[in-house]
Amino acid sequence: MSLDDFERYPLLFGPSPVHPLDRLSAHLGGARIWAKREDCNSGLAYGGNKTRKLEYLVPDALAAGADTLVSIGGVQSNHTRQVAAVAARLGLRAVLVQESWVDWPDPVNDKVGNILLSRVMGAEVRLVRAGFGIDVKDSWQRALEDVRAEGGTPYAIPAGASDHRLGGLGFAHWAREVRRQERELGVFFDTIVVCSVTGSTQAGMIAGFAEGDERPRRVLGIDASAKLVETRARVAKIARATAELIDVGRELRDEEITVLEGWAGDLYGIPVESTMEAIRLTGRLEGMIIDPVYEGKSMAGLIDLVREGEIPRDSNVLYAHLGGQPALNAYSGLFDR
Ligand SMILES: *Cc1c(COP(=O)(O)O)cnc(C)c1O
Repeated sequence: MSLDDFERYPLLFGPSPVHPLDRLSAHLGGARIWAKREDCNSGLAYGGNKTRKLEYLVPDALAAGADTLVSIGGVQSNHTRQVAAVAARLGLRAVLVQESWVDWPDPVNDKVGNILLSRVMGAEVRLVRAGFGIDVKDSWQRALEDVRAEGGTPYAIPAGASDHRLGGLGFAHWAREVRRQERELGVFFDTIVVCSVTGSTQAGMIAGFAEGDERPRRVLGIDASAKLVETRARVAKIARATAELIDVGRELRDEEITVLEGWAGDLYGIPVESTMEAIRLTGRLEGMIIDPVYEGKSMAGLIDLVREGEIPRDSNVLYAHLGGQPALNAYSGLFDR
């Protein structure tokens, strides 16, 4: 089977935009930096990387006769907000288990941003007290059982749509899209910088690039979970499973799976100084908004790697902007002085 054999339900506007970040590039004094914008890839509730992944899960859900999408995430999960939007678009129900993954004291944390949008779109939001984790949870099992008990047919979408057979396909398709855009733009992105937590975004990219690249390129994952070993293991597992699923025709090598630490701070969801600097710098130089949970951390990584010369001066870097801005509303206290 190749990627073309998997049905894709279109949820995006089309290829997501790619554009240079000239003022940021000049500020860092080297490496030409570009962004590919999953934060404006769709008209569905501001889009994001999960919307792209869901293009490949939706046909499976519809084939299974599902009438309710059931998923899980933190209170300010971008993923569950995107599941709510996709459910609305398809005329399905959404049941979202929102756990307290982040100990963040903002008084409106469970009222604004992503969770507000999910409520607007009619999802059933269940707030649950539980720590950060990506495994199958009791609360999630209970949500699935409740849907069945009411005579519904649930379709289970794990956190970040990652621990799912089809979870890597969306970003394998992204890799193809990048190759097409490279031909149009006449550039080759030798380095991709991407934020990694549940793993299938970076994993899909690795599998997708392995499928058709002739020149070597680096896909640098920046861990934002503050649990490097686990993140790397998830990326490796999903990348290999996806490569097999789309018949890349060879084993992925260990050195193709790069997840870097140093920018997550101590805890998932809590920004550190480098995160704040990255958010301000990107906003002030480019008018590009990034969030304190994910993109602020991957951008902090990109900034340091360019400054240190780990990404060389003659490099063309593609920063994968994966979305996530609605969560900023729950972090207003960081910016009020
Ligand atoms: C989910 C998410 C990520 C991480 O992607 P994974 O596939 O979970 O590794 C990064 N940025 C944003 C904005 C996200 O919502």
